[in-house]
Amino acid sequence: MFDKDIHTEPWYHGLLPREDIRVMLRKNGDFLIRSTEPKQGEARQYVLSAMQNEEQEDAGVKHYVMRVNANNQIFLETKGFETITSLVNYYMTSKEPIKKMTTLKTPIVKQDWEVEHSQVELTKKLGEGAFGEVWKGKIKMKNGKVEDCAIKTAKLESLNKEQIKEIMREARLMRNLDHPNVVKFFGVGAGQEPLYVIMELADCGALDSYLQKNPNLPPQKKMEMIYQAACGIAYMHEKKLLHRDIAARNCLYGGGQVKIADFGLSREGVLYVMDMTKKVPIRWLAPETLKTGTYTPKTDVFAFGIMAWEITENGKEPYPDMKVAEVVMFVRGGNRMRFDPVFVEQRFGDYVTKNCWAENPDERVTMSDIVHYLQSSFRMKPVIQACPFKEVEMKTMKAISTKRKEKKDKKKEKKEKNTLTKTEEHDKA
Ligand code: ADP
Repeated sequence: MFDKDIHTEPWYHGLLPREDIRVMLRKNGDFLIRSTEPKQGEARQYVLSAMQNEEQEDAGVKHYVMRVNANNQIFLETKGFETITSLVNYYMTSKEPIKKMTTLKTPIVKQDWEVEHSQVELTKKLGEGAFGEVWKGKIKMKNGKVEDCAIKTAKLESLNKEQIKEIMREARLMRNLDHPNVVKFFGVGAGQEPLYVIMELADCGALDSYLQKNPNLPPQKKMEMIYQAACGIAYMHEKKLLHRDIAARNCLYGGGQVKIADFGLSREGVLYVMDMTKKVPIRWLAPETLKTGTYTPKTDVFAFGIMAWEITENGKEPYPDMKVAEVVMFVRGGNRMRFDPVFVEQRFGDYVTKNCWAENPDERVTMSDIVHYLQSSFRMKPVIQACPFKEVEMKTMKAISTKRKEKKDKKKEKKEKNTLTKTEEHDKA
């Protein structure tokens, strides 16, 4: 292969899909190099993506696939080069427009979340994921700090285009989330193989297996876990994200916090209609999803109820002793699981049955209602977000509200003075 060190070039983004690239190329002449996913029996292709007409936004981005001849020379047009780096340098310095249209001006370098494999060290295998192994390791952040992390690896030859897109979409969603009850995303390593998705390490691993291994957690602890999960989901809903796969197996437990993870099925928006041919987690699905395939935030509320049940039952599979087909009949027939007497006594069981598992999604509460209910009835403390941006935002909000209050007070004072003068005048009259 030519250019085996291309991944070290700052403008090389590896497998990054078009959806990610579109937002990076803004001005005419902005460009980057990426690669296509390998197809069976075919060599990987390299693509130059460049903004040709910024007024057309997305449509103004052009993608040029590089050709390689028998002598391993690379071409965009008729001029051949030994390496992609020399090709890029040539078109940048000569200002010769590619296909008489696109001039390369500004190389768009890797974003903060684009990680080089050399920044990551894999130390211990944690488990098997859907696309490959999951490892414990360390990541050297761009600011020099070294953090523990978990690395999901994916071998490209065993993935199809759709799966790669799914992994990258999951990473794209995670990038915008920052909450103690949502697993934190550190970056994507898309420049080399295997593909890496790097995230915060949860020291106790998946929530379902943690619950199974620790069957004697006190009810108060379980309520705390349920509350933490509710905060994480409420935060996602605030961000207009549907999770669509809420279940204890898709949460992690680390640093004493439940963390919502596995955003593989997550979607932006408030309504999603499922592809009925795909595999779905039947035992967590709401009746309307079983009937019509629709997902709304209220579908996540239903699944949250099922997960709360899992937590109270030490990670047992929901509807124990029932086959999937029986579960469908049972739920569609209006039946629901029962909670352990301890949680019924605390009224939590009834709360979930009535408010999370209502047949009609409109009669279900929102995730934010659940958070408030748990705070007021179980004395759960509000989650403080560690995000510095939020802190700044909070401080600014506070400053604004103090100023507003001062203004209001002054207005009030003035009004009172006026009234007083008027009353005095009136009295005089
Ligand atoms: P996938 O979603 O790709 O199927 P999973 O999220 O199920 O992969 O991960 C497989 C296993 O790896 C989990 O059951 C868990 O034990 C472990 N794991 C995944 N992510 C983390 C993490 N951030 N911290 C600790 N362990 C993790």
